[in-house]
Amino acid sequence: MKSVRLVEFGSSLQWEEKQDPEPKDSEVLLEVISCGVCHSDLHLRDGYYKIGGEEKLFVKDRGVKLPLTPGHEVVGRILKIGSKVSSVSVGETKLVYPWIGCGTCEECESGNPQLCSAPKSLGIYQDGGYSDRILVPDEKWLLDIYDLSPEYACSYACAGLTAYGALKKALPLKKSDSLVIIGAGGLGMFASQLVPLLTEAKVIFLDLDESRLEKLKEIGFYTVPSSHPDPASEVKKISGPLGVSAVIDFVNNSATSSLGFSLLKKNGTLIGVGLFGGELKIPTPILSLRSLTIRGSYTGSPGELKELLRLVSEKKIRPVPVQIRNLREADSALNDLSSGKVLGRLVLSGKSA
Ligand code: NAD
Ligand code: ZN
Repeated sequence: MKSVRLVEFGSSLQWEEKQDPEPKDSEVLLEVISCGVCHSDLHLRDGYYKIGGEEKLFVKDRGVKLPLTPGHEVVGRILKIGSKVSSVSVGETKLVYPWIGCGTCEECESGNPQLCSAPKSLGIYQDGGYSDRILVPDEKWLLDIYDLSPEYACSYACAGLTAYGALKKALPLKKSDSLVIIGAGGLGMFASQLVPLLTEAKVIFLDLDESRLEKLKEIGFYTVPSSHPDPASEVKKISGPLGVSAVIDFVNNSATSSLGFSLLKKNGTLIGVGLFGGELKIPTPILSLRSLTIRGSYTGSPGELKELLRLVSEKKIRPVPVQIRNLREADSALNDLSSGKVLGRLVLSGKSA
């Protein structure tokens, strides 16, 4: 088993080779084919989230233990199964649902392990897919990818599912409504792919990187550069002066969340998704007088991921741009993501180990 591991927060990932694990009971060992690189892996490598000013929320205080193999967007081929496994077979290619919980709490029992308060997510609390092997604790976390290719399917486990979960929270929207999406990186690109399937509302993308906005403009979206001196008035030229019905913030720092809040029309909803970090200060009477909602959104459930994979495969929609890298380049892939050099999603190839 060859893996790229986080050994110390704030430091480069390290190559490690060891014996393949043996799957027991309901466990399944997969050969990793593709593993997406998420901006959350960067926050994990840093070891903290910013929470306003100089303050930090440390991932070690949230239960993350090192050494750890990151990677939560994994498609693999089943190599070995434990003695109690009955629903999957050796040789099958599957997407791993990574947002695993304790299995016994109310959220886990109601089909929402992503909301478990004792999370065991793969690539965050347990070893993930920056490797040529991944040990999945139970066969029930393995999903069909239909006719999707592994390098394209893997990022539905996080980027696709998170975009889908956030979009569902913004619905229903009428054709005359406007939806603002801040951030046209991995999550934003998946949202751009899914949003036409879910609503006819006007969709306005904001990002600092104008080349990403150009791509979105080419396929029919409204765009406003975040660097514009007055992005709010540019958005309102498109939405109308009352503002927009919903904002999905895939950046979610102090500046973007405050801008998002200011764009909402009465009864509007701000959905915070990104972990870039910061704080939101709001005038509380505005919240009540304008009947606004501020809410967060975290990944999605196994049921939603199944629903999403079926939808994407049936609709044969425009693929999100994907760049494939060698597993050994995981650390430089993270550096490229950090410096904004990636359009769409970077995917590591487990076979290149
Ligand atoms: P990414 O690096 O692929 O994309 C980030 C995008 O935001 C880039 O296009 C960048 O130009 C843009 N951006 C950065 N600062 C901006 C600003 N101030 N104004 C406008 N645009 C700005 O990242 P990603 O993988 O899409 O992830 C986005 C964020 O969402 C990360 O913080 C990640 O950790 C988080 N995330 C949250 C969840 C969840 O469930 N809540 C799931 C996955 C990722
Ligand atoms: Zn992610």
